Amino acid sequence: MSRSVLVTGGNRGIGLAIARAFADNGDQVAITYRSGEPPQVLTEAGVLAVRCDITDVEQVEQAYKEIEEKHGPVEVLVANAGITKDQLLMRMSEEDFTSVLDTNLTGTFRVVKRANRGMLRAKKGRVVLISSVVGLLGSAGQANYAASKAGLVGFARSLARELGSRNITFNVVAPGFVDTDMTQALTEEQRKGIVSQVPLGRYAQPEEIAAAVRFLASDDASYITGAVIPVDGGLGMGH
Ligand code: NDP
Repeated sequence: MSRSVLVTGGNRGIGLAIARAFADNGDQVAITYRSGEPPQVLTEAGVLAVRCDITDVEQVEQAYKEIEEKHGPVEVLVANAGITKDQLLMRMSEEDFTSVLDTNLTGTFRVVKRANRGMLRAKKGRVVLISSVVGLLGSAGQANYAASKAGLVGFARSLARELGSRNITFNVVAPGFVDTDMTQALTEEQRKGIVSQVPLGRYAQPEEIAAAVRFLASDDASYITGAVIPVDGGLGMGH
């Protein structure tokens, strides 16, 4: 059955692959984008694109109103939007820290809180948060990012307990290194160093993350909640 699905930050990278996976599934998909224009491939796939900066609670409210009007209440939420502002602690400004937390963690809180309203009424819902292997493994120069991504695990597990009786599941996908704009910013030397640590010996393609997300939102995952699913080529084994 076609569900109302929302993917934040769905205009590029991992979010775009997730949106396409749900659209291929026959779901009614909406994405949020913050800047630029949504890619044509989404328009052609019938995906609704809504401009929304998740650091602004008013924009989140407006986005939900538009999606609810066109697709009905959100039944599957994928909180994917995220940023990095890498810096060694000594040089990390307060703004470097708080802006990453405000987007990755508090931004996720804003979209999850708003989705919860409709899910409670429907007495069902699926929420998937996109964390990172770095959240549990740590990463020099990414204390802000790792803290925000680790925070998502505690957030999801608390909500899994709080809302399990309402038939709403909360799961976390923790990707390793994925070939997107975010990792294109790394130098060739950094990329080689990362790949040498990955048992599968390569970066992930965004579609490989999307497959895990689609599974967690499917009927096959009806008894999975509070889980952290690594999709990292074995990089974080043991965490
Ligand atoms: P990209 O940088 O390619 O895309 C990030 C997306 O988030 C863009 O759509 C961007 O919008 C959106 N976004 C950023 N800030 C905001 C905001 N304030 N409000 C709304 N949207 C926003 O990243 P990836 O596709 O690589 O990453 C997607 C998610 O996966 C992130 O949460 C990231 O942390 C996580 N991840 C990525 C990994 C990787 O190796 N690439 C590994 C592990 C996790 P805009 O286009 O306007 O900038």
